[in-house]
Amino acid sequence: MIKKWKKSITASMCLLVLFLVVGCGSNTAKTTEPEVKKIKVVTTMYPVYEFVKQVGGDKVDVVMLIPPGAEPHDWEPTAKDIIQIKSAKIFAYHGADFEPVEKLLHKDVLGDALAVEISKDVKKLEAKHEEEDEEEEHGHTHGHAHEEHQFDPHAWLDPIAVQQEIKTIQQALTAVDERNADYYKQNAETYNKKLTELDEQYKKVLTGITRKEIVTSHRAFGYLANRYGFEQLGIMGLSPDAEPTPDRMAKITEFCREHKVKYIFFETLTSPKLAQTLAKETGAELLVLNPIESLTEQEMKEGKNYLTIMGENLVNLQKALK
Ligand SMILES: [Zn+2]
Repeated sequence: MIKKWKKSITASMCLLVLFLVVGCGSNTAKTTEPEVKKIKVVTTMYPVYEFVKQVGGDKVDVVMLIPPGAEPHDWEPTAKDIIQIKSAKIFAYHGADFEPVEKLLHKDVLGDALAVEISKDVKKLEAKHEEEDEEEEHGHTHGHAHEEHQFDPHAWLDPIAVQQEIKTIQQALTAVDERNADYYKQNAETYNKKLTELDEQYKKVLTGITRKEIVTSHRAFGYLANRYGFEQLGIMGLSPDAEPTPDRMAKITEFCREHKVKYIFFETLTSPKLAQTLAKETGAELLVLNPIESLTEQEMKEGKNYLTIMGENLVNLQKALK
């Protein structure tokens, strides 16, 4: 039986080769089965990419415009990015003042792509402008970057807000590909269950904390702090290029000394220089708190993702808040 099988396979392979040789140039060799076309979704930053992949599964082809390891706060779309967006069924971006949308949400850029702001139904936190207040107090301006945010954009660091984003993504995919509505619904529910588990872990670990403040590199953790009842003191502003004034730096140093802060958080994608200086001056140690704005190639190779890094962050938060 097996021999016979093998024989017939060999025979058909010979036929196939013949067919291909003959087919070349004469254009008669056509693939018989039409490939099922995946939905092309172009995303901006890693969290959007990851969440769309989770909901879309093998029905979607997801492109991430901001490359791994790039700090995405000052991202500007290139001509190539715009070509990608135009060729997509969906253009998914985070929103809440993260991307420069005024440059993107034009018919010329979008073509027929459906634009989806995944944070559209999330309750936004207003941006705080601590540095600016201080500038006004002292009646002069400094040369550092001015923050134009109305909102704090870092909603993806709150697992409950992400559940809302997952629903928005599910609705968008269903709108362009109704045939797979059940599939997207199933995937969204599965991922949202994992987010519930993550939230429960955070609640469990952070209910027993004694400290209420963490000192971070840039103010990325407002939504997370708000959800779990602590506060962040950012050395830099809502984006990492908003450098502190000497006055603000002095205030943070004073705060760390007064409260005997044991750990200062830094990030892997932006310069740790200021965090290092602060740690040195106050005798604190350095720990990583990842704002998950971008994953490095290395992190991706190691199979890290939003959920695993949120877990790592919790371990370090527990250390710092104990
Ligand atoms: Zn940020």
